[in-house]
Amino acid sequence: MNSATVDLHSHTTASDGALSPDELIALAKKNEVTTLAITDHDTISGYLSIRHKVSGINLIAGTEISTTWQGVGLHIVGLDFDPNHIAIQKLLSQQTKARQTRSQIIIDKLTHMGMPITLDELHKSAGHQHIGRPHIAQVMIDKGYEQSMGKVFKKYLGAGKIGDVKNNWASLPEVVKAIRDSDGIAVIAHPNKYKMTRSKLLCMIAHFIEVGGQGIEVISGKQHPDITEKLAKIAVDKGLYASIGSDFHRHLPQTANLGKLALLPKKVTPIWQAFH
Ligand code: AMP
Ligand code: MN
Ligand code: MN
Ligand code: MN
Repeated sequence: MNSATVDLHSHTTASDGALSPDELIALAKKNEVTTLAITDHDTISGYLSIRHKVSGINLIAGTEISTTWQGVGLHIVGLDFDPNHIAIQKLLSQQTKARQTRSQIIIDKLTHMGMPITLDELHKSAGHQHIGRPHIAQVMIDKGYEQSMGKVFKKYLGAGKIGDVKNNWASLPEVVKAIRDSDGIAVIAHPNKYKMTRSKLLCMIAHFIEVGGQGIEVISGKQHPDITEKLAKIAVDKGLYASIGSDFHRHLPQTANLGKLALLPKKVTPIWQAFH
């Protein structure tokens, strides 16, 4: 298999993506993707809704789990797990509860700041009850509190801002264990996005490996070849499988289209070698 046809990180309307699972599969086929993972934030409902309907494409079980490490919000992608396993199901239901608690905390904070929004508005806007910060941002824009997603994140919901509530997610060891216990592989998502120093990143990776983590995204969306080289070297040095994914949410000029990615460097071990 060639990494040109693989995309192991994508979102649907089951979390904060713009395309329904069916629409995402149609786009994957159009873009000649042969192996796809739908990795919605803390849910597999999109994947479950189409897994038995999909043909002509190798659909891998996936999810992107929110956690924190030393105060930094971190995303761990789980791949190729047994979606019926109690360990992953327990983790996802714990994360869903954490999202519900977080939504209410953010709502209360915004309300205190003179920008009232309700859970009902969020559920209606999202079309489901699995709320992410982009759904909150959209309602704030719709109610005229701010003009753009970028501004809402910069002022209220981004890292270090009042809506950046992280303490209720499952811990990194718990996340990795649940993925592994479900026969899956845990992967560090978009390692270049955390604004960590190199030494902190390496420290986080060491901890991730210590608790059973096995993969790292060497290619995440559009990224500079120097970053790919740096991450490939880390993957090889640390004995991690290399993953590749667009992190596709919607068509935007500045982000990668589904499956339209650079090739994995030859020196890495592609993660699909570890798939069932
Ligand atoms: P959550 O999973 O609820 O914590 O929300 C995180 C999601 O918000 C990410 O997966 C992105 O899709 C989105 N996001 C993060 N930062 C920004 C930003 N600055 N502008 C727009 N969307 C963002
Ligand atoms: Mn997202
Ligand atoms: Mn992410
Ligand atoms: Mn993602």
